[in-house]
Formats: sequence, C-alpha cells, structure tokens
Amino acid sequence: MSKIVFFCIPAHGHTNPTIEVVRELSYRGHEVWYYSFDEFKEKIEGAGAKFISCNEYLPELKPGDEKKIGKDFAALIEMIADTTIALDEKVCNELKGVNPDCIVSDSLCFWGKLFAEKLNITYVCSTTTFAFNKYTAKMMKKGFKEAILMILGMSRINKKIELLRNHGYNVKNFVSIIQNDNDTNTIVYTSKEFQPMVETFSDKYSFIGPSVSNVKVEYEERKRKKIYISLGTVNNKNIKFYKNCIKAFETCDFHVVMSVGKDTVIEDLGYIPDNFKVRNSVEQIIVLQNTDVFITHCGMNSVNESLYYGVPMVLYPQHEEQGMVAKRVADLKAGIFLKGNNPKSIKDAVLQVMDNDDYKKNANKLAKGFKNAGGSKKAADSILKVIDTRN
Ligand code: UDP
Repeated sequence: MSKIVFFCIPAHGHTNPTIEVVRELSYRGHEVWYYSFDEFKEKIEGAGAKFISCNEYLPELKPGDEKKIGKDFAALIEMIADTTIALDEKVCNELKGVNPDCIVSDSLCFWGKLFAEKLNITYVCSTTTFAFNKYTAKMMKKGFKEAILMILGMSRINKKIELLRNHGYNVKNFVSIIQNDNDTNTIVYTSKEFQPMVETFSDKYSFIGPSVSNVKVEYEERKRKKIYISLGTVNNKNIKFYKNCIKAFETCDFHVVMSVGKDTVIEDLGYIPDNFKVRNSVEQIIVLQNTDVFITHCGMNSVNESLYYGVPMVLYPQHEEQGMVAKRVADLKAGIFLKGNNPKSIKDAVLQVMDNDDYKKNANKLAKGFKNAGGSKKAADSILKVIDTRN
C-alpha cells in the first residue's frame, strides 16, 4: 500500500475536485495525508485522509493583498516563498517521518512542488484549471500594468529566490516555480474535448473529467424555467450585479436561485421578489441538476459542474483565467458572453440561451465526454502508476 501526501491552497475550487480522488485512494487502502486549512478539515477527514492544518503558517495578508497577489507577480512569488519557508521545518520533519511515495500538489500550491523537489519525493501536479503550457499561455492576455509590475518586482523576486536557495530549495528561476513542463505527471480535472489545444500536451497529462461529487437529485418537472446565478466563492461581493439580476427577472415567470457569497449582506440587496431565492451559499451541485440556464463567473469548477449536468451558460468572467474558460465555452457554443451587465442585457442573454436548443445540445455533448473521462478512479490509477514506475 502506498503513502500519498496532498497539498492545496485554501480555496474551495482547488480543494473540492481532489476530495473524490482522496476518497478513492483511501477506499483502495492507501494512506493519505492532506496539508490544508481548517475550513476543509471535515471534508478531508470525511474522505479518509489525515488532515494537517497549515493555517498558522500562511503569511498575514493586509487588506487589498488578495487582489494584489492576483495581479502583481512579485507579490505572488513573495507569498509562495514566505509560506514555503514558514512551513519548511514542520513539513520536512514530518515528511521524513512519513516517508511518502508521492506528493500530489495543486498547480497553484507551489510549496508542495518545492517540498517534493527538496526531499526528492515523486511529484504529481493536480490542476483544477485548464492544463497550462507555453502554447495555452499565449491565449492569456497580459496587461500592460501587470508587465510593468513584474519588471519593477524583479529584484524582490530575486531576493526571495535567493532565500529559498539558502533553505535548500534548488530553484532555477521564478518560471520554474510556477510552470511545469510536458514531463510533469499532471492530473487535469476536465476532459480532452474541453481542454484547449489538447494536442500540445504529452501523455503525462491525465484528463480525468471533473470530479463532481456524487450527489444525485431527482429530475423535477418544472412549471417555470429555472435560472441559477453565482459568482463563485472568492470575488463575489458585487451588489450592483445582483441588484441588476433582480431587476432583470422580477417580472418574469422564472424561478431564480441566486448565491451571493458569504460576505454579501442579503439585506443590502433591498426588495427580493417572490420568484427569487437568494442565499449566501447553496448546494450548487444539487441546484444545477434542475436548472435551465446558469449565469456564472466562469470559475473552472462552476463551468465543469454546469456542463456535467448539461446546463448552458451566460458567461460573466471576472478575470483572465475565467475569461479563458468562458471563451472555450463560447467557442464550443454551450453558452454566450454577457455583454454589459445592465438588467436588459442580462435578461436578453438568458432568453437567447433559453430559446435556442443548440446551447443545451452542445452542453449535453460535453457532459457525455466528462462522464466518460474516467473520474476519480482514473486519477487514482494515474497516481499509483506514477508511484509504480518511478525510478
Ligand atoms: N459553490 C457551492 N455553492 C455556492 C457557490 C459555489 O457549492 O453557493 C461551489 C461550486 O459548486 C464550485 C466551487 O464552489 O465547486 C466554486 O469554484 P469555482 O472554481 O467555480 O469558483 P471560485 O469560487 O474558485 O471562484
């Protein structure tokens, strides 16, 4: 039996898909440890892994830092280096004791990869976004401001890389921290059909389909069409947008479920019409199984889940990576972009998707590919194969 250690960042979208893989590995009798954050303890332990909390090792973020890290490359590298060094003693000591066969680390949880390299442990990358290489990188537009910030941040980056080297991390340069090559064993939680430029990835990439938890609900015969709206779990405080959605559908004969995120105060939205159900969070997997159109921020998980249940979308991406996911959905004609976000444009976009069966048909086609991609069983097989064939 193998010993496998997972690492992930504190984000639902990155943790959720790994849970079914952990469950499958534990079910097969392998020992799994999971370095994560208190919010995810219950889920992780429920899937059979030993949870190890990293909460006290994360650098303290000042207000505004979260947004900065997404845009300022130097701030990201600083955060990665600080977290790695803070965790260094604890993780290295513990892992020397566990002596794992493999580390599976989220593609953005760079410290997992750094620990694997330092301790010479086999590494598998787990990517909940599209797989990423030099070809798909070209699809992402780099803003002028981001490029400037990066140049200005070079000396900060180099200082942190030097610090990592002093702690025994053999870091070549900053690109080697964030980018994997075609030789890295990688689990990708989508299908080959949905991955853009799939032909540019080697067979080290295992496209397993989305890891959607197995909660099934009965199909309900609906008298009214149902719309589901969510901007995900991270950047979801957008009162103006939610109010515009209310205006768009308050007089329509649609049932609207709107998840506004845990930091949005529902009272701030004002009057909520009877045909709306507004919550801070919903069981998205359950809601989607009886939804006609999903207005989404295009987080990879939300889009995967929507397609898995054959629900066409109105695409409202909030940043670059979501823009890439949205573009893929639009290219495959399983949804359309929201143009402007006033009540009329929101309503028009939903009606356009609802009134044309092709969007639903294309979403269903992708759903079939997702369901045949192999799921958590294939992910577990891939991880175990990497362990079996390591040198
Ligand atoms: N989610 C949920 N209930 C909600 C909103 C979101 O269960 O009310 C889940 C959703 O099913 C998905 C994850 O949270 O698995 C959101 O991940 P995604 O990648 O779409 O977006 P992020 O939150 O990372 O921006």
